Amino acid sequence: MQSAGCRLCRIARDARGESTDGLAAETHDQINREGCEGMATTVTAAHHSIWRHLFDSMHAAQKPKSKLKVVTLDKESNLSTLWRREEFLRICSKEELAEKAQEIEVTIPVNKIQETRYNFDPRSFFANRFWGRRSDGVAINEALQIVYILEFN
Ligand SMILES: [Zn+2]
Repeated sequence: MQSAGCRLCRIARDARGESTDGLAAETHDQINREGCEGMATTVTAAHHSIWRHLFDSMHAAQKPKSKLKVVTLDKESNLSTLWRREEFLRICSKEELAEKAQEIEVTIPVNKIQETRYNFDPRSFFANRFWGRRSDGVAINEALQIVYILEFN
C-alpha cells in the first residue's frame, strides 16, 4: 500500500512543529525498517525488548564447559572499550584490528548524520567510526580465537 505521505511521520513532524514537506511514502518497509519518524520509539523499544529476551536465552542456554562466552555489555561498551579487555587483546591487538577494520570501513558509505564529523576530519573519521561502534552483543571463544559481534535486526 502506498499513499501520498506517511501519516505517522506527518503526526510526528506536526508534534515537533516541523514542515511536512517531502514525507516518505507510507509503506510496510518504511514503517518497519526505513525509519518512520512516528514509529521510531516503538520500533527501538521492540528491538531492545526482543534482543534482551534472545540474549538472556543465550545466557541461560550456556553450558558451564562451553568455550563460547557471552560478554556482558554496558551502555558505555563500544569496540574501543572492549579492546581494552585482556581477553580481546589476546585474540587480536588493537593495531592489527584497526588496520583490518580500516580496509572495510572505507567501503561503508558515510551517511547523512555522519557527514559533519567526516568533513571535520576525513582522515580519522573511519577509525573513529569503527572504534565507536556499539554492537547488540558480543561473544568470544578464546580457545578458537574468535570474537563474534552480534547484531539483531
Ligand atoms: Zn512514517
